[in-house]
Amino acid sequence: MNIVPNYKNPKKYVTAKFPIRQPIYLTALIQLLSRVALIGNKYKTEKINMEGLKPPYIILSNHMAFVDFKLVSQITYPHRVNNVVNVDGFYKRKWLLEWIGAIGTRKFTSDIHLVRSILKCLERGDVIGLYPEACYSQCGISSYLPTALSLLIKKAGVPVVAVLHRGNHLNNPIWDVTKKRRVPLHTTATQILTREDISSLSCEEIGKIVKSALTYDEYQYQKDNGILIKEEYRAEGLHKILYKCPSCKTEHKMASNGAEIYCEACGKRYVWQENGYLKALDGETEFDHIPDWFRWEKEEVRREIANGEYTFFDEVDVFSMPRTNKFIKLGAGKLTHEIENGFTLTGFYRGKEYRMERAPIQTYNLHIEYSYPLLNKGKRDAVVMSMDDDLFYCFPKKQNVITKLAFATQILYENRENEIKKAKLERRATKV
Ligand SMILES: [Zn+2]
Repeated sequence: MNIVPNYKNPKKYVTAKFPIRQPIYLTALIQLLSRVALIGNKYKTEKINMEGLKPPYIILSNHMAFVDFKLVSQITYPHRVNNVVNVDGFYKRKWLLEWIGAIGTRKFTSDIHLVRSILKCLERGDVIGLYPEACYSQCGISSYLPTALSLLIKKAGVPVVAVLHRGNHLNNPIWDVTKKRRVPLHTTATQILTREDISSLSCEEIGKIVKSALTYDEYQYQKDNGILIKEEYRAEGLHKILYKCPSCKTEHKMASNGAEIYCEACGKRYVWQENGYLKALDGETEFDHIPDWFRWEKEEVRREIANGEYTFFDEVDVFSMPRTNKFIKLGAGKLTHEIENGFTLTGFYRGKEYRMERAPIQTYNLHIEYSYPLLNKGKRDAVVMSMDDDLFYCFPKKQNVITKLAFATQILYENRENEIKKAKLERRATKV
């Protein structure tokens, strides 16, 4: 059972409210500022099958970097857009979130008002901007899309446009946001579902079309287009996602420098070449494609979970964000992640114990932040426990553990979802 922290001010930021209609001068201003901010980037936006398409419609975009929003605004202009955004992305800027007509929510929670807000904006005749992966892609490949997405599309009954960004992750990877790499950006916006399609197709069919339209692999994009990444620092930060050594299988001892990633346990080194291929400096190259290494790590976690071996515990520094105006320092806490119970965070605040729980089925992914700058106290990796009405930023003491936690969260959710599906089918079969 959850026991909330003993806050002095128990008020929370309420997401259950309708956004305003985006003022038209802001639509123009956002497009203009975005275009200015894009100067210096080599980019191309393309519209496919969108002739004559007028709002209301839904945009579903893949999500890799902040530049995604700027590129989408070039496509939707001159129409008003209500983006669904995470409230902590507007830390101390709640006014801005509300002014631009964004719909604030908390990542990976069951926000029942969200659907009502979306439908309201569509009724007003505007565009909805959704980033259904809900967080920046860690490895520049597609991630899980919630099943509820096709239900929403069916209910809304308006056309759907899939926006696929290419190059945004390579240009500014989430594992090293401080430095950019010179990579051309290419965004396509394709109408994938018309009103007629939506009324004639089942939710399952809609889900398949959406999934296929939002499938991507940035490192493949690099290879297919012969893009060379020449920056000498190009691999710095890569160990954040490639945390397990494929040679000696040690976890959390990978490090990176310049164009190289290496294992501090066995000393094996790999160079990430300009053409996108990895190469071992000595001996076998287990993976020459970065996403293959990343997927192998996930399968390793799946195996640990299947064998009942998976568990995580660490002491963490905790800051919460019940409102958007400030981080509240809760001090030291204990974070566990277990196969049966999912996440549990405990600690003391103002003399009383608090306890936050998140079961595997409650969260299909985990909000993680690499090298998060916190209150000028340096940068540390963070795991964010997203509750329906609060956020808990947990900074582990252990190094380089958050990618694995995200994998485990996804797998535990997938397992639970499959169990539920199976039980439903069995019940249906017994009825027949
Ligand atoms: Zn090693």
